[in-house]
Amino acid sequence: MEFFQEFRNLRLVKTLVDEINRITTKPWVIMEICGGQTHAIMQYGIDQLLPPRIELVHGPGCPVCVTSLELIDKSHAIAAQPGVIFASFGDMLRVPGSKNDLFSLRASGSDVRVVYSPLDAVKIAQENPDKQVVFFAIGFETTAPANAMCVLLAKSLNLNNFSLLVSHVRVPPAIDVILSSPYNQVQGILAAGHVCTVMGYWEYLPLSQKYQSPIVVTGFEPLDILQGIYMTVRQLENNQSIVENAYGRVVTQNGNRSAQAVINQVFQTCDRKWRGIGLIENSGWRLKPEFDYYDAEKRFSVEQISPEESTVCIAGLILQGLKKPLQCPAFGIQCTPEHPLGATMVSSEGACSAYYRYQRIDNY
Ligand code: SF4
Repeated sequence: MEFFQEFRNLRLVKTLVDEINRITTKPWVIMEICGGQTHAIMQYGIDQLLPPRIELVHGPGCPVCVTSLELIDKSHAIAAQPGVIFASFGDMLRVPGSKNDLFSLRASGSDVRVVYSPLDAVKIAQENPDKQVVFFAIGFETTAPANAMCVLLAKSLNLNNFSLLVSHVRVPPAIDVILSSPYNQVQGILAAGHVCTVMGYWEYLPLSQKYQSPIVVTGFEPLDILQGIYMTVRQLENNQSIVENAYGRVVTQNGNRSAQAVINQVFQTCDRKWRGIGLIENSGWRLKPEFDYYDAEKRFSVEQISPEESTVCIAGLILQGLKKPLQCPAFGIQCTPEHPLGATMVSSEGACSAYYRYQRIDNY
């Protein structure tokens, strides 16, 4: 706790806020990519400390939120099959699919289990050799190394009853889509510190140059976020557009080479559908052909899925920074954490859930 308090120091917070105020002369729109950062911003009221001319918009960095409806429906189809144990992180259980969610499937008898690590799912497979165990492998670059290692572990254990339903996504292609949109308002980006811990930030250098947009690698504590905002505003005010690292205690330009090697051993890039956004080229990872045996989409017959998206939910626009949760007519009325219409109201990293949880009803 002492370690965290260093990055919540009120005196230093005030100093940074004063500095941001001092250097801000124009209106700027800055996007925090990661939903964890969105929740920290709301929780600590960071948006309310900033000069009114700085607007923070929320990006697509919530893995639960961007997992395509098609894959969620596939997860339900697999979980409903007899003889299957479907293992997932807890947030996914309440994400609405076209017809229901994993919680309701569990209530109606399916064996759906919450795990805290993909290793738990491997253990379940070892303990239940007569069942097929499927792990819902969602996430950005942060979760990919552990999921890749589970495949290698399952292979080394000769497990024939373990597979992954893979929905991995990658941040840089999503930034490319956001910044290239004709509707884009974002002028600077706070990159997600944990993603960069794994991947480094070398992939962001050409993006920053291409769109003349500052990108600052940023952490998750209040001082981290304020430091990232300060460095972004400083660049914008000085007409600069480079990649800077405000999370140097964890992130290096090249990232964690060992983790990247494991990812590259098991996964290959692929086009991926993002919920509410659509297909983004090269924005995902899928299992390499030599690991097809562990691919749940191949092991189970779930190809013929025709998802039906809510007609009310504007989560796709929120995830691209084009709208904010309070601009959704369903917010807090038809859509609440107890009765979510979209994944951004469910996830602990979703922007709608952050606004609801921290009672942001007056900040747009
Ligand atoms: S409030 Fe609910 S319906 Fe509206 S965008 Fe958010 S998740 Fe979708």
